[in-house]
Amino acid sequence: VGMNAQDLGKILHREPSEIVKKLFMLGVMANQNQSLDKDTIEILAADYGIAAKEKVEVDVADIDKTFEEESNNTDHLETRPPVVTIMGHVDHGKTTLLDHLRHSHITAGEAGGITQAIGAYQLKHQGKTITFLDTPGHAAFTEMRARGADITDITVLVVAADDGVMPQTIEAIHHAQAAKTPIIVAVNKIDKPGANPNHVMEQLTEYGLIPEDWGGDTIFVQISAKFGKNIDELLDMILLQSEVMELKANPQQNAAGSVIEAKLDQGKGSVATLLIQQGTMHTGDPIVVGNTFGRVRTMENERGKEIKKALPSTPVEITGLSDVPEAGDRFVVFDDEKTARAAGEERAKNALMEERRTKNTVTLDNLFDTMKEGEMKEVDVIIKADVQGSVEALANSLKKIEVEGVRVNIIHTAVGAINESDVTLAEASNAIIIGFNVRPTPQAKSQADQDNVDIRLHRVIYNAIDEIEHAMKGKLEPTY
Ligand code: GDP
Repeated sequence: VGMNAQDLGKILHREPSEIVKKLFMLGVMANQNQSLDKDTIEILAADYGIAAKEKVEVDVADIDKTFEEESNNTDHLETRPPVVTIMGHVDHGKTTLLDHLRHSHITAGEAGGITQAIGAYQLKHQGKTITFLDTPGHAAFTEMRARGADITDITVLVVAADDGVMPQTIEAIHHAQAAKTPIIVAVNKIDKPGANPNHVMEQLTEYGLIPEDWGGDTIFVQISAKFGKNIDELLDMILLQSEVMELKANPQQNAAGSVIEAKLDQGKGSVATLLIQQGTMHTGDPIVVGNTFGRVRTMENERGKEIKKALPSTPVEITGLSDVPEAGDRFVVFDDEKTARAAGEERAKNALMEERRTKNTVTLDNLFDTMKEGEMKEVDVIIKADVQGSVEALANSLKKIEVEGVRVNIIHTAVGAINESDVTLAEASNAIIIGFNVRPTPQAKSQADQDNVDIRLHRVIYNAIDEIEHAMKGKLEPTY
């Protein structure tokens, strides 16, 4: 007798359920205990043969861990520029402030250059660099945080002096506080006749933002973004705050950081704006970005100028990735391209599995809708029963069902309790499990709950058939 998935799992250091899943992908239906023929084992071994060689590299697929390691490297620390996000209520002047900064602080030599918006830019003030993220709005900010990217050092909260604290002002405060970034308040539009900066300051004390003069530690600057009043003072305060924070990074290590935005360009392919948070990035660097990978083919600064290397806190636009990453994705540079590729592919595969798992599970409740979308040619079903006779009777009856050209396809049958490998198979193939006079094991039950796999239990064959038929016709009675 040949080996089964359990035996192979031991040899290959994999979970038997993973082997079953893999077998399924190769078009072989088998449970963990079913013995496999020689050809199947060879195909499987070949498949894992490659994977086995990549085993070490699979570890580096955990980009967040790698990122953490790179970030916590305390060698060769040097001061880096602060990364600033501007937030506030709509119409309070965020865009006006960003535009003013962009235009007033470009050095003479660059003034003629085309200003190319890449989602972030740097300016110099008193010989020091400040990086501004050009993506106002706390939604984008928190979406990026949700993806693991903590990129903002300082939040500038813009509040219009003639309007005061508004709903999005409060949201912005909470988002910044959740991210634990210090807030500098820019009380804007002080040129306006109705401006009442003191009222804004009073209002903000309610949210823990208390000016130094009043015994607190929040920096307030009264500005007019439109007329450029006190902008230098605001920049002074940003530099002061960043000095207090002692922001540092090690420029001598491999670069690591986050994606600010990314898109597919007709001519250039995948184009990503990255914020370098650690290390120095060089053109030619092998890189893993989110679930994609590649080599830094070209690198440009925010003014569209080609650069060969970029230091911490610098935003850059790169090409050379095999796919388009998402805003908030992390990136890490690797020493060699082979490792980067292996890590990138592994991450892409995991993401795909995850997507299948969460998005596409078919249940009897959504069966009719899924069928209507026209994507479904067959309803895949797994049957488990107490005796072989019932398995066959149920399978034969189900095979006869046909609703608007869609048929039932039995992908696996067996005698016995519904086990984890049934659930794994159902998950991988988007199938529904029918149990006849059997129950799922506790492990199978919890796995099914977690993976949204639909298990239907019956004691009367007719009822099992009826339920499937009704579901396919969109007439399923709600279950309670
Ligand atoms: P955002 O929605 O926060 O980006 O706000 P905008 O920057 O688009 O500004 C909204 C409006 O307020 C625009 O008409 C600006 O010209 C105006 N505005 C912005 N800053 C000032 C300012 O300092 N003074 C005055 N008087 N108007 C301003």
